[in-house]
Amino acid sequence: MHLRKLADLDLENKRVLVRLDLNVPIQDGVIQDETRIIAGLETLKAILKKTRKVVVMSHLGRPRGVADKSLSLEPVGARLAELLAMEVVFIEDYITEPVLQVLDQSSHGQFILLENLRFHPGETKNDPEFARVLASGFDYFVNDAFGTLHRAHASVVGICEQIGMQNCAAGLLVEKEIAELSKLMSAPAAPFTVVMGGSKVSDKIAVTLSLLKNCNDLIVGGAMAYTFLKYKGFSVGDSKVEEDKLDLVEKIYENAEMRRVNIHLPVDHLCAREFSAAAEPIVTAGESISDGLLGLDIGPQTTAKYRDVILKSATVLWNGPMGVFEWDSFAGGSLGVAAAMADCTGRTVVGGGDSVSAVNKAKLADKIDHISTGGGASLEFLEGKPLPGVRVLSLNF
Ligand code: AMP
Repeated sequence: MHLRKLADLDLENKRVLVRLDLNVPIQDGVIQDETRIIAGLETLKAILKKTRKVVVMSHLGRPRGVADKSLSLEPVGARLAELLAMEVVFIEDYITEPVLQVLDQSSHGQFILLENLRFHPGETKNDPEFARVLASGFDYFVNDAFGTLHRAHASVVGICEQIGMQNCAAGLLVEKEIAELSKLMSAPAAPFTVVMGGSKVSDKIAVTLSLLKNCNDLIVGGAMAYTFLKYKGFSVGDSKVEEDKLDLVEKIYENAEMRRVNIHLPVDHLCAREFSAAAEPIVTAGESISDGLLGLDIGPQTTAKYRDVILKSATVLWNGPMGVFEWDSFAGGSLGVAAAMADCTGRTVVGGGDSVSAVNKAKLADKIDHISTGGGASLEFLEGKPLPGVRVLSLNF
């Protein structure tokens, strides 16, 4: 895959439209986690060194095509301006108000931010007319919104068709994400361990089957593990099990056997009598869980066993928490995996979503080699699916 990169565009004094993923959690107008804003800074600064004519756009949440003040990008623009030490010119109505006029009148030290793209139904429908309005008058388009590359939306796909593929490029974050994840797909240093967790086998089946082609060990945790244990004939009490997905587990075992991949399942659990943050944690003596109990985290012996496998690995990919890590009493397994990843001397990658939150909760983010910013996008990439947003940045090269 040949991705057009920032360095391939001659941006000097050109009008540049930049798609970032500024979809940050906001509560009562206060940003709760600014990781995604920070992630787009490097590209924005690189572009601003070459040209002052920069317009930034992003989505925020799911307003479903209508304006919703609680999902306005205005507070994000204010924070972005602080981080860049620049002034933001925020454009609420960019459909009837000509953005280019504002851009050409903007002064040194200013950049423009458009209001939430998803206030317009044309965005998620990849409407060519909406894409045309966005693209109008720009010389170049740079996409650094890795987390949205799996979406065929107007600001991801349609825009490239309007501006012309040769005038579009990936930003530095997208370039780095794709390089890191591609390494896991093609030539990961062995032994390569995949740590899969989270709530559902069905969500992770495609990515697991794809990664089995290259990995040596598959570690299973989270609610997913109970469907695996049930398949293996263990009792799992009242734990969350996908009874109708036992055939998918069988498929994973068949593939693993064919490819000589070791599958590691929990050997003990942290259970509770009820699904509650305040529930008293009960450790099981082995794999089986009695009726009346539900598994909410891997147990201490499992955490130690998984740590050993991780420490012996040359490459580790982690996706999905080992338990209900949001609750302190059941976060031990996920924090233990985060610590093992931090201590591993091999290449460590955390694949987006809740496992990133677990690494942040453990305050170990700086000890991980690569933390992917896109949950869905990184999963689809690792499944081997062609991402629509990557395709348009790779054509006509
Ligand atoms: P996913 O989005 O599939 O990665 O799943 C993440 C969610 O799975 C988190 O919100 C966890 O709280 C939840 N989870 C992990 N382990 C369990 C478990 N044993 N029982 C119920 N939910 C779980």
